[in-house]
Amino acid sequence: MYEHFFQCPYCWEEISFLLDSSVSNQTYVEDCEVCCNPIEISAHFNDRELTVFEARELGQ
Ligand SMILES: [Zn+2]
Repeated sequence: MYEHFFQCPYCWEEISFLLDSSVSNQTYVEDCEVCCNPIEISAHFNDRELTVFEARELGQ
């Protein structure tokens, strides 16, 4: 597993999220552990290296 730290798009607190580095394209909806708003997360891995990470407000 790959732990990635990013800022919540709602409250701007730094939070972490665990990604599976063996899956090349991933999308999740995860509630922020600080403000509880739903965050849409997309991640792309290339040879187990994280190449793209996006965290945005759900529905944006
Ligand atoms: Zn938040």
